[in-house]
Amino acid sequence: MNQTTDRLTVGVDLGGTNLRIGLVDYSGAVIEVHEQSSIGTADELIEIIVQKINAWGSNNTIQSVGVGVAGMIDYEGVVHYAPNLPEFAGVPLQPLLAQRLEHPVVVDNDANMAAWGEVNHGAAQGYDAALVITLGTGIGGGVIVGGQIYRGAHGFAAEVGHWQFDPAGPLCACGGRGHWEAMASGSALGRMAQEQAAAGNAPALLALVDGDAHSLTGHHVVQALATSDEVAQSIWTQFTRAVGVGLAGLINLFDPSVVVISGGLVVLGEVLLNPIASVVAEEIEGSQYRFKVQILPAVLGDQAGLVGAAAMARDLVP
Ligand SMILES: [Zn+2]
Repeated sequence: MNQTTDRLTVGVDLGGTNLRIGLVDYSGAVIEVHEQSSIGTADELIEIIVQKINAWGSNNTIQSVGVGVAGMIDYEGVVHYAPNLPEFAGVPLQPLLAQRLEHPVVVDNDANMAAWGEVNHGAAQGYDAALVITLGTGIGGGVIVGGQIYRGAHGFAAEVGHWQFDPAGPLCACGGRGHWEAMASGSALGRMAQEQAAAGNAPALLALVDGDAHSLTGHHVVQALATSDEVAQSIWTQFTRAVGVGLAGLINLFDPSVVVISGGLVVLGEVLLNPIASVVAEEIEGSQYRFKVQILPAVLGDQAGLVGAAAMARDLVP
């Protein structure tokens, strides 16, 4: 029997914006995928997962199920805190799913799942010590130590976006002030553009949104960068500096072989990665005296979460 084609697992990635469910083989290839906007309650999520497994399971041998959720998840698969999915707080998701499914099921944080995807089938493959950092609406992180996800005492480790980067910085989505996420996420890039526009400093950016400063996002900064707009360039320098300084701190803490950057901005390639690498080289401890840490773009894109969840589910079956 060929294991790479005959054995399949289901991966689920529930973010604040989107829900993705995929049927994935042992090589990481996605055979089927269902995508929709995010759902509000655990009951709805469980119904959709059961539906998909019934539909796909009639023709395939599904071994197990992995579910990633954007929130703080403990070792028992209970969601403790999920600011973008408020109805899930306190929900014992793994036990509820286990009651409904005939398959073994694992529930973990979505960024851990995405990191596991990149480790098993993406840019971090073959590295025992890696950081996978997602620059999106927030900043997600997965820390790989000894080839395994580092989860801490309670399952809440690697909340890499939430430490104070600037005591005078803007409020973070979590309520803290000046957290790295508030300074270096995709949303932070949009906020910088809005501030410059509101101060009357960014005519080219404003022109992209018909003068409505509040609707400026990170995408508009990227758009203006392509036209060599000086204001966009200066925002970009400030943004990549914030990303790089934070990464240097994380590299000091974990000494990884590789840092994988994911999120929509990765399509910019060297425009994103080169300035970050320069700042890391400047800011890291003992820069001239240590091994170089590679900073690589993620390769799984928006399927990293479901591919990683499916990969983690494989460990549930012998
Ligand atoms: Zn925060």
